[in-house]
Amino acid sequence: MAKIKKKIKTIKIDLDKCNGCRACEVICSAFHATPKYSSSNPARSRIRLIREPLKDVYLPVYAGEYAPAECMGRDKYVIDGKEYGECSFCRASCPSRDAFKEPDSGLPLKCDMCEDLPPGEKPLCVQWCLNDALIYEEREEEVEEEVKSEDVEIGVESMVDKYGLQKVMDTVARMSKKG
Ligand code: SF4
Ligand code: SF4
Repeated sequence: MAKIKKKIKTIKIDLDKCNGCRACEVICSAFHATPKYSSSNPARSRIRLIREPLKDVYLPVYAGEYAPAECMGRDKYVIDGKEYGECSFCRASCPSRDAFKEPDSGLPLKCDMCEDLPPGEKPLCVQWCLNDALIYEEREEEVEEEVKSEDVEIGVESMVDKYGLQKVMDTVARMSKKG
C-alpha cells in the first residue's frame, strides 16, 4: 500500500504555567456554539479544567474518544508533590462523569482542533492561553494511504461496465470461497 505524509496536530500542556483562568474553556465553548460565538458555557467546552486552588492543582484536559462503559482503572498520580485524583488525566467522555458531554443532549464532545479555522491559524484555546500553558505543535508522519470507499465503488463500477454485473458477482463469490 502506498505511503503518504500526514500532518499530525498536537497540543502540549505545560502544567507549571496554567493558572486555572479558564479562558480556554470560554473560547472553545463560544467557538462551538450555534451560531458561532452566540454563547459561552464551559460545560460545552472540549477542554476542561480540573481545578483545586487550595492544592494549587490546575490541569487542562482535552476531550478525546467516547467510551460507552467506565473502565476498571482508578489511579492516582503524585507529580511534584501534587496529588491528582482518579480519572484526572483521562480524556474519555464516559458514563462515570459529566465532563465532555453536551449538557442538553448528553452527546459526547471531542476536541476537533478547531477544524473550521482558516488554514495556518492555531487552535483557539492555544491563542487565548496568555500564559503559554498550551503549546501547539505539528509534525509529519508517513502513514499507509487509506483506501477510500468511494474509490472502491468507482473501481467496482468500472468493472461492472466492462464485464457485466453477473460476471463480477460470480468472480467475487469464487474469490470469497477461496478465503
Ligand atoms: S487558558 Fe491557559 S492558563 Fe488559562 S486555564 Fe486554560 S490552559 Fe490554563
Ligand atoms: S483545539 Fe479547539 S476544539 Fe480543541 S479544545 Fe482547543 S479550542 Fe476546543
